[in-house]
Amino acid sequence: CGIVAYVGPRDAVPILTEGLARLEYRGYDSAGLAVLGRAGDLRVRKAKVRVGELAAGLPARFKGAPGIGHTRWATHGEPSDLNAHPHIAGTIAVVHNGIIENADELRAELAADGVVLSSETDSEVLPHLIARSGEAELEDAVREALSRVVGTYGIAVVDARHPGVLVVARNGSPVVLGIGEKEMFAASDVAALVRYTRQVVHLDDGELATVRADGFRTSTLDRRATRKEPSLIEAEE
Ligand code: GLU
Repeated sequence: CGIVAYVGPRDAVPILTEGLARLEYRGYDSAGLAVLGRAGDLRVRKAKVRVGELAAGLPARFKGAPGIGHTRWATHGEPSDLNAHPHIAGTIAVVHNGIIENADELRAELAADGVVLSSETDSEVLPHLIARSGEAELEDAVREALSRVVGTYGIAVVDARHPGVLVVARNGSPVVLGIGEKEMFAASDVAALVRYTRQVVHLDDGELATVRADGFRTSTLDRRATRKEPSLIEAEE
């Protein structure tokens, strides 16, 4: 339902929880975060709770960047701690808005290959498909995974093997980048970004972006580079 992501020198956690709280009006049943800790380790917290409760229950050492956050409006699998996002495969964490229509086939295919899925969601196939791609670059691995998917998505991905990189993609579910000073943001709605920046870039359907603290690069799912002009939001705080 809601996505917020951050890459830069700050601790992502307060930015993610503050941004998610600004999306609360959309409604949700669960919330979760994943960040890369200082040692490059993937840290995940998710539960069937409000954002405020999740934030209040985080240990002081739960810090890091890049990071991704999610509020879920369940479509596949009941609201529960396990079905909350992010979903994980090894070093990879993914948050997803939307509906993967061929999730049953993809889940069956992964299961037949020995992958143990830990949720009932359509979304969980994404980190596994990304993890199983032979691609060296995270962007290419995400692109390959998405080529298998039928349905709608806004996603944000972090991988402990690629510190400093965030990959986001959009198809039928909005994703907007926020441009900061040596830091970058992404969200499903500008409302989550207005406190941090007014300079935004809206992804188009079928587009993905590799985002680093010092900038971003966009391309289509079939690997054509795209050029995006930032626009200014005139939203109120
Ligand atoms: N279809 C996914 C799920 O049920 C994502 C729902 C959402 O957009 O929050 O987990």
